[in-house]
Amino acid sequence: MKSRIKFVQGQLNAKGLNAGPEDGIMGHKTLAALDKIDGIPSNWAKQRKVIAFIQLLAQEKGIESCKVDGYWGPQTSFAFESLQHVQDHNEEPERWRPEDLPDANPNDWPKQTPEAELIRYYGQVESNQTKIDLPYPHKLSWQTSRVINRFSCHERVHDGLKKVLTRVRDHYGLDEIKRLRLDLWGGCLNVRKMRGGNRYSMHSWGIALDYDPTRNQLKWGRDKASFAKPEYNKWWEIWEEEGWVSLGRLRNFDWMHVQAAKL
Ligand SMILES: [Zn+2]
Repeated sequence: MKSRIKFVQGQLNAKGLNAGPEDGIMGHKTLAALDKIDGIPSNWAKQRKVIAFIQLLAQEKGIESCKVDGYWGPQTSFAFESLQHVQDHNEEPERWRPEDLPDANPNDWPKQTPEAELIRYYGQVESNQTKIDLPYPHKLSWQTSRVINRFSCHERVHDGLKKVLTRVRDHYGLDEIKRLRLDLWGGCLNVRKMRGGNRYSMHSWGIALDYDPTRNQLKWGRDKASFAKPEYNKWWEIWEEEGWVSLGRLRNFDWMHVQAAKL
């Protein structure tokens, strides 16, 4: 927290708002400076204001399209790292342009919120599951000696998923699939709550898949995640043309994950 406050003090001072010494301690000057910023509700707790200011800065610099809610999540964490990068190296990170992505939805996947909408479309969590026979063999990412040829998924995503993986196989071929680690399967159906929340994860319906989680860790942005590299563009296009959503491509975190629900 101290490094965040210090960073925020520097930015407030750069805006001429007199946040006091940049010492990482939240004093009354820093608070008064934060209260001069438009878009931060004055009744929020101090720490929440600090985070909201970081989110506003990220928006201002076009780093991330994250919401200004004063809560620290993977997106804000990534935005913060980028802001620090700009400060330390005096250069803008590459702009993030999720709006350039196609927004196909041939299967009419529902939105992930509200949950009631999702339940209307898919039913209760863990219901309506079927097995998919895979167009190319997968390996368990946590035990790569184990090859699998099928796994459980929701029956309403089955055909779309099969189409995607068939196209992946036909486009890349088995050798490239291996080299690019497009066969390292990190799971599909898994009933659990989202991290830091009480809503169910998309995995609970068997409508989300993870691939190569070790090289695409939850909090990693496009600077670190292997799936953000250009050689994976086709991989993502194939998913997107079928209406699947990559959190990496749209929100720049959780690059391992792809889901049949719109944001
Ligand atoms: Zn996932």
